[in-house]
Amino acid sequence: MVAKALKIWYNALWIYKLIVEGGEEIMKKGIHPDYKVVTVECTCGEKFETRSTYAKGDLKVAVCSKCHPFYTGKAKFLDTAGRVDKFNKKYNIK
Ligand SMILES: [Zn+2]
Repeated sequence: MVAKALKIWYNALWIYKLIVEGGEEIMKKGIHPDYKVVTVECTCGEKFETRSTYAKGDLKVAVCSKCHPFYTGKAKFLDTAGRVDKFNKKYNIK
């Protein structure tokens, strides 16, 4: 579970790095995309406005600064397929 959470966190960092470096690359080439206000909608229900070159309307994200464990200090527990329950039942853990 911890390893999985770490993997997700590293992936998020990597994606962030890609976006930041990608943005710099666009500026270097002198291509200026439409930089406009977009509404970011998180799965936790948080909505906020930011400026982005994202052109497909509202931006939907899985985590934001309101719900990411890095900011909240709390673990965000997602067990969508009931795998933890299955594991606990299998090994008789209560
Ligand atoms: Zn959120």
